[in-house]
Amino acid sequence: MPGAMIIDGKQVAAGIRAAVKSDVERFTAAHGEPPGLATVLVGDDEASQVYVAGKHKACAEVGINSLGHELQASATAKEVRDLLGDLNRSPQVDGILLQLPLPDHLDTAQMTGVIDPLKDVDGLTPTNAGLLAQGNPALVPATPSGVIELLRASETPLEGAEAVIVGRSELVGRPLAFLLLAENSTVTLCHSRTRDLAGTCRRADVLVAATGRPKLVGAEMVKPGATVIDVGITRTDDGLVGDVDFEAVQALARAITPVPGGVGPMTIAMLLRNTVTAAEQRR
Ligand code: NAP
Repeated sequence: MPGAMIIDGKQVAAGIRAAVKSDVERFTAAHGEPPGLATVLVGDDEASQVYVAGKHKACAEVGINSLGHELQASATAKEVRDLLGDLNRSPQVDGILLQLPLPDHLDTAQMTGVIDPLKDVDGLTPTNAGLLAQGNPALVPATPSGVIELLRASETPLEGAEAVIVGRSELVGRPLAFLLLAENSTVTLCHSRTRDLAGTCRRADVLVAATGRPKLVGAEMVKPGATVIDVGITRTDDGLVGDVDFEAVQALARAITPVPGGVGPMTIAMLLRNTVTAAEQRR
């Protein structure tokens, strides 16, 4: 049997960025200034610094005005709240991105909850998470929207399909479940307490792994002909590793995303799109 179609996230993301770029040009012509994204980085986590730098670079490429704010690792909850409050009120700021994880002494839900839902380009405020759960999405987290775009790009049928997601985080698994439900898939959400993970995954026409456990998903967990999306990223001495045993699963899947070059590039592309959406809705 020939191997699976490799879903090229870089290529799909490039298409989305190009579309965002022309939307930004239109927006800027209409409003006299480009959409604005503010990032907030608390502390000096190296991976977070790299992610934030990547987001600013991507903004510059499509013409979004981005401004970085940095607070020390010792910043108090009040300092973070005050900064977010200022950004909520700033007319030039259309999107606010609070880079996670925060230092341990700060409560993530409390801090993201301060962000104006209209500027919540990560889709993590209770308002946006609730709207998505009610089937009335506004700003949706970037990574799960990126997964949906990859499923569309690979022409994976979603209506009536068995979709199994491994991982139930607020950032990925949970919002993705609602997005797939909106596509009329039959959704199963697995997690660390799932009794028969392999058996459940083997039912999937669409299998999404989002756990951060390298190579958790092996060939014995995949139905022949399934589309397999690997969200996981773990840094190892051999480079970035996904949650799926790519070599083994590629032999029997219909389509599969690589790591790197699959879901990763989509996340930034969808963040750019969310920033333009937020700007258009607010102004
Ligand atoms: P997270 O908050 O740590 O959640 C991990 C989820 O996986 C939890 O629901 C956990 O179950 C489940 N899990 C862990 N081990 C499991 C196992 N052995 N069997 C079944 N379920 C298991 O992680 P996250 O933020 O969702 O991120 C997941 C992965 O995606 C990470 O590798 C992260 O780096 C990556 N990621 C990539 C992108 C991207 O742009 N490509 C974006 C975001 C995240 P419990 O709930 O029961 O603990």
